[in-house]
Amino acid sequence: MTILYWFRRDRRLSDNPALCQAVAHAHDAGSTLLPVTAREPDQTTAWGFARLGAHRLAYEAQSLAGLQQALRRANSDLYQPDEPGMMGLVNLARANQATDVFCEALYAPEELAQVQALQASGIRVHAFEQSALLPASELPFEVQRTPTVFSEFRRQAEKAKAQPRTPLASPTTSAQGLPALPGSIVGASPYQNLAPLPEPDSRSALPYQTPHWHGDEACGQAHVQRYFASTLPGTYKATRNGLIGTDYSTKFSPWLATGAISAAQIWQALQQHEATYGGNDGTYWIWFELLWRDHFALMMRRYANALFHYQGLAKTLPEPLARRQHNRQGFERWCAGQTGQPFIDAGMRELAHTGYLSNRMRQNVASYLIHDLGGDWRAGAAWFEHCLIDFDVHSNQGNWAYIAGVGTDPRGGRRFNPDKQAHDYDRDARYRELWSAS
Ligand code: FAD
Repeated sequence: MTILYWFRRDRRLSDNPALCQAVAHAHDAGSTLLPVTAREPDQTTAWGFARLGAHRLAYEAQSLAGLQQALRRANSDLYQPDEPGMMGLVNLARANQATDVFCEALYAPEELAQVQALQASGIRVHAFEQSALLPASELPFEVQRTPTVFSEFRRQAEKAKAQPRTPLASPTTSAQGLPALPGSIVGASPYQNLAPLPEPDSRSALPYQTPHWHGDEACGQAHVQRYFASTLPGTYKATRNGLIGTDYSTKFSPWLATGAISAAQIWQALQQHEATYGGNDGTYWIWFELLWRDHFALMMRRYANALFHYQGLAKTLPEPLARRQHNRQGFERWCAGQTGQPFIDAGMRELAHTGYLSNRMRQNVASYLIHDLGGDWRAGAAWFEHCLIDFDVHSNQGNWAYIAGVGTDPRGGRRFNPDKQAHDYDRDARYRELWSAS
């Protein structure tokens, strides 16, 4: 018998409860274990561009190649079906007489549909929730009753003293190690990294093309340790609105997005930092921001497809969203960093050249597309999905809907004045100068 372990957004061996379950199950049943990743189909968005851009593809490939190397060190490997999408996994399972697939549970609509497709083909799917900071079982309310306003969610979670999981060791460190691969594998081959690395840009706030910042688990874990061994967490709240360099924010997001690190591991390192150096509003704010990540994931779990509709969660469309058509030309100028607004164009160039953008600039460029150019917020979300190496469906869709005024913002959306923002956050114009040219 063969069991498939399907790596989704959990590309790590340490602190991976679903993988531990699969390994234990395989050992108990005397089964082999085949680690797989689905092959991404080539997709074009409704807005006419490829769903995955060059930075995104390269970063995804780094996380998978790193995972494969870690599996190989444990006498296993990472396989990819010959066919793309879920049919690839279904046919692989059938061809290798595998009836059980273990994986992490993801609750976004497309991810739920993937699991349903496997189940409809007769495969037993064992999915385990593991990517949030706070497990649903710790929350003092049912998921479907999660408060829609973030501050209420946080207040209730903190009042109930909800706690993250204690991270698990990698199953490779146990006496039994990983179960063997099947003797012969039909319909799949070892993962091959075919994504070319884009030209590195020395201006990048997240230079993932350089060795320290590589997207694999080892670099992600080392980054977390390095970050919490420094004094940066204590000043995080004061620096988090920065625009230039690697240090103004944690830069955990790309590894969190692929699952090379878990939120529980960050929490453990944060606690160790506080035990050594003491806690302050900087260290608290890292917890606070990770709660935002949880909240957006819970909102998608609660409201599902609604977050992909133009009207989002709003009962009626707010003005002026209600009476306009998508400004396609404005959108194209925005993507290219050619709107004529220097602060916004600097942000859009940084995004295109590096696959990363600070939170402050994400807010600004999103607001500009929606409230100044009259673009459809979902087109902006799709462009971020194309570009961002830290793309996370919950945080991306949720933040875009929030700024458009059709998400969870109790104030009903917000327009950022780019001139005032440039004055407040780029007074000496250093950021605009840095990204003034391509
Ligand atoms: P830090 O400031 O160091 O924050 C620490 C962690 O907290 C982050 O890694 C992230 O996991 C979480 N976090 C911080 N801010 C937010 C937030 N506003 N929403 C949710 N989680 C947050 N984040 C993504 O991970 N993927 C996305 O696709 C994404 N799209 C966004 C789109 C828009 C329009 C906006 C305004 C924000 C988006 N964010 C997204 C949130 C945020 O901008 C990034 O998480 C952050 O900039 C990543 O850098 P960091 O790890 O250094 O963040």
